[in-house]
Amino acid sequence: MEVERTHTHEHRLATDTDDGLLLIISGPSGVGKTTITRGVERSIADSVFSVSCTTRAKTAADVEGVDYHFATNEEFDKLIEEEAFLEWADVFGKRYGTRKRWVDEQLARGRLVILEIDVDGARQVKEKMPEAFGIFILPPSEEELLRRLRARDREGEELIAKRFAEAQHEISVAKSGKIYDRFIVNEDLDVAIAEALEAVRVRRARGRADQGADEPRAS
Ligand code: 5GP
Repeated sequence: MEVERTHTHEHRLATDTDDGLLLIISGPSGVGKTTITRGVERSIADSVFSVSCTTRAKTAADVEGVDYHFATNEEFDKLIEEEAFLEWADVFGKRYGTRKRWVDEQLARGRLVILEIDVDGARQVKEKMPEAFGIFILPPSEEELLRRLRARDREGEELIAKRFAEAQHEISVAKSGKIYDRFIVNEDLDVAIAEALEAVRVRRARGRADQGADEPRAS
């Protein structure tokens, strides 16, 4: 596993702003959240996607350092011990975690930092950083989610049923807690992305207005 060393934020760059916002995007598998996350990332110039560490096996589609930092169980244990994670969770029997230092550095740079993480991880982040903005992506209906899980044709019916039950559970946990600020139904991808972009724009404008209110006014 190679985790790149970034600069500390002692030196302010010309591109730095006070606009930093932590954006959490969650949703059950099959709901299209990765496409929506990447759509938001592409559309907002100062956004950065947080590349998680994981102990799950790398697939042919994965690129080290782009999709994930792949770690052994020992490496992951060490990162937990060093308190390197802002959050980490066990998802489908594998561990996934967000590197705290990298997130802090990017926020200090004024970036929109995007975490695509599960409900358990989102709950941990919200506890530590209540100002984080959480979006949960919902399927149009349970029938449609089941249809999409089947259409991916990656798994047998037994696994599909398991994913479907997990999705139902995740949705009910997400709806019952105070983790998420916005729920977006993914009926149409372009519309869902536009809704997420608008929600982020409004939230950042509010953040700027709040900051302005704290500053002493020039007479
Ligand atoms: P996959 O293995 O299919 O890429 O991801 C499985 C699940 O792990 C997804 O629900 C994804 O949102 C979640 N996940 C990915 N990275 C992290 C992370 O850093 N922390 C947590 N808590 N969940 C993550």
